Amino acid sequence: MSKPAFATHEVFNQSPPFEDVDLFACDRPLQEAVAAFGGAEAEKELSEFGRHWGSAAMAARGRVANENPPKLRTFDARGNRRDEVEFHPAYHELMAHSAHAGVHNSTWTAEGRPAGGAAEVVRAAKFYMASQVETGHLCPITMTRASVAALTAQPDLLAKAMPVIATRAYDPSFAPWWTKRGMTLGMGMTEKQGGTDVRANITRAERTADGYRIVGHKWFMSAPMCDAFLVLAQTAEGLTCFFMPRFAPDGSVNEILFQRLKDKLGNRSNASSEVEFAGAFALRVGEEGKGIRTIIQMVQLTRQDCAIASAGLMRSGLAHALHHARHRSVFQKHLADQPLMRAVLADMALHVEASTALVMRLCRAFDRTPGDPREAATMRLLTPAIKYWTCKSAPPFLFEAMECLGGNGYVEEGILARHYRESPVNAIWEGSGNVMCLDVLRALSREADAAIAVLQELAEASRGLPGTGEAAGFIAKVLRRPDGERVARLAVEKLALLAAAAALNKVAPRSAELFAATRLANPHAGMYGAVDLAENDASALLERALP
Ligand SMILES: Cc1cc2nc3c(=O)[nH]c(=O)nc-3n(C[C@H](O)[C@H](O)[C@H](O)COP(=O)(O)OP(=O)(O)OC[C@H]3O[C@@H](n4cnc5c(N)ncnc54)[C@H](O)[C@@H]3O)c2cc1C
Repeated sequence: MSKPAFATHEVFNQSPPFEDVDLFACDRPLQEAVAAFGGAEAEKELSEFGRHWGSAAMAARGRVANENPPKLRTFDARGNRRDEVEFHPAYHELMAHSAHAGVHNSTWTAEGRPAGGAAEVVRAAKFYMASQVETGHLCPITMTRASVAALTAQPDLLAKAMPVIATRAYDPSFAPWWTKRGMTLGMGMTEKQGGTDVRANITRAERTADGYRIVGHKWFMSAPMCDAFLVLAQTAEGLTCFFMPRFAPDGSVNEILFQRLKDKLGNRSNASSEVEFAGAFALRVGEEGKGIRTIIQMVQLTRQDCAIASAGLMRSGLAHALHHARHRSVFQKHLADQPLMRAVLADMALHVEASTALVMRLCRAFDRTPGDPREAATMRLLTPAIKYWTCKSAPPFLFEAMECLGGNGYVEEGILARHYRESPVNAIWEGSGNVMCLDVLRALSREADAAIAVLQELAEASRGLPGTGEAAGFIAKVLRRPDGERVARLAVEKLALLAAAAALNKVAPRSAELFAATRLANPHAGMYGAVDLAENDASALLERALP
């Protein structure tokens, strides 16, 4: 039944909401990338996920969870410490839906070993779709999944925790983790005096009869209602990784004292705390003094997720922009039929196709790493490069997507304003831009032969595409220069572009050709749409993006 009209005017020429869509079925580049990298058999599962997460009900949960940010309840009414954070029910529902689909654990077996097959690719497709709806809750989802890699260093603890991590139940009760139906894990590394330089951590751990007591602080510790955190603290042997639960073994609340929650640009449904540890109970994970080596296993996976989420955010921006342009008329013609808007949208579609193929290729490397040293080298070299390029490209991309919707894009009722505010965080946390570039250099210098082999493989996989041979040669040369650090951004961006062209070549060769021609053979202009794509290529890209 249509609603009554306004007294003064009819509402027309507004695009309908982009809701109640199948986020998988309406995304051909995603379907093709998943199939190309081993996930074809999961098509039905992913389509069910896509329909569910593309529903208006899930979109509403995402909006409400961000309009009602979490609140820290430091004390109860009588002045006793509580140290609890309250979230809106919509946040808990998002958590439950993600957990139900195994986004927090499906890359692991019940024992905590890599699940194998295409588990990484399939889970990444889910993560990519969920990030189009709500990214804040994905912070504890990603940390829980990643924590297993670090817990592997402590098999007795892993064996106890895995039965609780491996369930698909979300249990938000504030109770000891060993009594719960499901659990989430967070991570505390960053201190006031240094986030990148965690060796400067001053938090200290003292050995006790039943474990360790930790005294110190963390300047950023997200998702504070997680059931346990992997934290770094100094012992006599140096920086060490610990498992710090919210409850001590005797069932008392652990000495984890939240000071405040950060007032953040975006990521508002998720809480990020400042915290003090006043003799908090913790168990060691891995050897004393080997904390960085232990926790880096977790960080590698959270970096992978930052790239997937950024690709998902850009996909959402593109889909909303294209959907709007197909419904909105300006000068008697749909925006999607105006040549200049088509150039912008097609160029954006090309960027998203490449980003999607690239992150799925990376996930394929994660799937194969346990039994394939070549793929392990690909994973090692490309994770920081892909995190750098994909995450840093998201904010300007989302700005352009917003602009495609004109004024509506800038308004909070639409999702693009939220995506835009969300997008920079993926580049900043889990290793900021420069740190990622330095990590690529580190991989190249420490495992030079393996890295050169990866470069050769990328050159081979992109053979014949414009500019790829020159790019591979340039990277190899620049990264061996003694002043490589000074030009690392130049080389790492080229490395990501080369890897994207190679990945896309396996998925959609014509798109790969266009990508290489507009990004490698010629440097891409500062703005989207400042390219010369033939009309038939633009049409094909737009049709693939949103059939
Ligand atoms: C919303 C949010 C949530 C977070 N949640 C968590 C959490 O749950 N747990 C946690 O441990 N941390 C968390 N962090 C912290 C985050 O990981 C750090 O902020 C990040 O690692 C950067 O550290 P820093 O802030 O100390 O900046 P710095 O280390 O001071 O870096 C500042 C800048 O300098 C650059 N830089 C650093 N070293 C070099 C170098 N050698 N050469 C050139 N440039 C360099 C960096 O790239 C960066 O751009 C969170 C941050 C945010 C914003």
